[in-house]
Amino acid sequence: MDKFNLPVYGLTPFTMLDYPDKTACIIWFAGCNMRCAYCHNPDIVMGGKGTMPITDIWQFLEKRKDLLNAVVLSGGEATLYPHIIEIAKKIKQLGFDIKLDTNGTKPKIVKSLIEQKLVDYIALDYKAPQEKFKFVTGTNHYNKFSETLSYLCNTKAIPFEVRTTVHTDLLNENDIESILADLKKRGYSGTCYIQNYRHTNTLKNLNEQVSSLDISSLKNKQSFKVDYRNF
Ligand code: SF4
Repeated sequence: MDKFNLPVYGLTPFTMLDYPDKTACIIWFAGCNMRCAYCHNPDIVMGGKGTMPITDIWQFLEKRKDLLNAVVLSGGEATLYPHIIEIAKKIKQLGFDIKLDTNGTKPKIVKSLIEQKLVDYIALDYKAPQEKFKFVTGTNHYNKFSETLSYLCNTKAIPFEVRTTVHTDLLNENDIESILADLKKRGYSGTCYIQNYRHTNTLKNLNEQVSSLDISSLKNKQSFKVDYRNF
């Protein structure tokens, strides 16, 4: 039996939307160390250790070796999975590229994955400016997130994107200006995705927005690309 045989939450067998320019599957890791009000994966976040045997993942990937380019590690928070490094090594040995979706709260894991060339692309959530981080995420993890963001900006070892979800009960135009200014200050050069909240079943039963973000009022001029989604 593999020494890293903890179950995962589940698997999406095919996506063309989650890894830029690649066909991929998504492994969903159960559990998260944040409690974002707008989280649309409450079952995964509160899903304990998951129930899908990791052996099912290996069987699936063996069969898809010549059909998919990549594997997305998502959740929940994939970096909390105790054997994420070993999992990534095995996925790499099978020949897949790897994308990591992360909230950035485990900078040592992110560094380790990059230093061992076990990840090719990262999507990092920038939840909120420091002063609103706890309000949006229910946690005090801003400093860890900031450490991950700084590392990614400075190392330039792999491409990464930053993304922020906006529900106007939680974030306003000033907050987005603050996030964009911070990214500029850190020398970020990728794409920042500002995603409008889409109403669904959420972790904290958020109501529909009364009004969405007024992106026409944002003034900060960026040296990087800002992509407003679903506005
Ligand atoms: S949206 Fe927040 S609570 Fe949900 S998985 Fe992402 S970091 Fe965790």
